[in-house]
Amino acid sequence: LFKKLVSLDEAKHIIAKNFTPKPVGKESVPLDQAYNRILAEDMMAPFDVPPFSRSTVDGYAVRAEDTFGADEDRPIALKLCGRVKIGEQPRVTIEEGTTAETVTGAPLPEGADAVVMLEDTVQKGDTVLIHASVSTGENVMKAGSDLKKGETALRKGQTLTSYEVGVLAALGVTRVKVYKSPKVAIISTGAEVVELGESLSKGKIYDINAYALSAAVKECGGEPINLGIVEDEHRKMEAALKKALSLADIVITSGGVSVGPTDIIPKVLNTLGKPGVIVYGIAIKPGKPTTVAVINGKPVFSLPGNPTSALLIFQLLVRPVVFGMARRPVEKLRTVKAITATRMFAARGRRTFVTVHLTRDKAGKFVASPVPLGLSGAITTLSKADGFIEIHESQQFVDAGEEVRVFLLRPNLYQTKVKE
Ligand code: AMP
Ligand code: MG
Repeated sequence: LFKKLVSLDEAKHIIAKNFTPKPVGKESVPLDQAYNRILAEDMMAPFDVPPFSRSTVDGYAVRAEDTFGADEDRPIALKLCGRVKIGEQPRVTIEEGTTAETVTGAPLPEGADAVVMLEDTVQKGDTVLIHASVSTGENVMKAGSDLKKGETALRKGQTLTSYEVGVLAALGVTRVKVYKSPKVAIISTGAEVVELGESLSKGKIYDINAYALSAAVKECGGEPINLGIVEDEHRKMEAALKKALSLADIVITSGGVSVGPTDIIPKVLNTLGKPGVIVYGIAIKPGKPTTVAVINGKPVFSLPGNPTSALLIFQLLVRPVVFGMARRPVEKLRTVKAITATRMFAARGRRTFVTVHLTRDKAGKFVASPVPLGLSGAITTLSKADGFIEIHESQQFVDAGEEVRVFLLRPNLYQTKVKE
């Protein structure tokens, strides 16, 4: 195999030509597990919501016309004919000139069409003095005013946040049909990498990528499957990749794609199915060795081992695919404009991503200062960085004081920074 670097745009184009993200199916989940899932069908109200007209205040249920003309100084006297209990069908009927005591949330009794607030009344024995007039429907929430029976309450494709979960609860929905989360198998490689919990002997490091990438997969609505660490050995890698392809919809590997003697993944990938490797190296920095394959309809992203590079390439290439298969509205990374604090150089002929930290100047404008990527293996870079800027391959650098677009690594960062 020979590395032929393609540009980032070409790489995206090749991936799009060979693989179209499609939903992986639907499943029914209990409502208490539906949070943050994507609704896979329209939801109709099977009955009126609320199911009955109810009082929205504590007070007295009345026929509005009986109160007309009442005010603070000239109350109208109505005859108390009973009390409406919350949670029960009212037993009283409001005839002309009568009223019944009621509370917030109780059904409106037959004959009544409004409720006078307790604060506007004085009760004396069997007589209630009404000190304010009400109009028809006042202080009443009508049956079906939230949702009419048969009305579409939620639409297919909506993300189920706390609000939508609340609507489903109002409809009495116990299980809800959502899109299945795409399963993403994650394989780490390298003889130096060990599982968390094991002791670190000389020369070993903990497996950062499996955990960081699993979290990144969850952030996009995918379901990670951590397949552990695999040795850079042809048969073992072949077995691991086969297992990954049988279990998951997307496969991510990290490490083992550079040009060293142990970097065997691309070779193995080409033996597993068609079309095999479609991108073998991208003219970007970091992430040059990134390899992408499609094997019998499933994409395999082989990311570099350096954790920061792996996470950045995940954001650029894998994230949109997971979103698409999860049927989530593809959220682009948010951007803010910032002024660069220093000149930042691009790697020759490669699209360069510079991780930056954001501060504000006196005028309130964002200032972007580079967070050095560090040498191979740095992991704190992205946790210290707020975002990254992109320098096009045709450009040598961006100068100090230039205005640039910063892609934010955390969606709510903008708000927290604004408050500073
Ligand atoms: P490689 O791409 O395999 O040549 O690895 C590049 C660098 O990333 C090396 O310093 C590796 O030790 C490191 N690395 C590879 N995989 C992992 C991992 N899963 N967790 C942490 N560091 C890793
Ligand atoms: Mg390695």
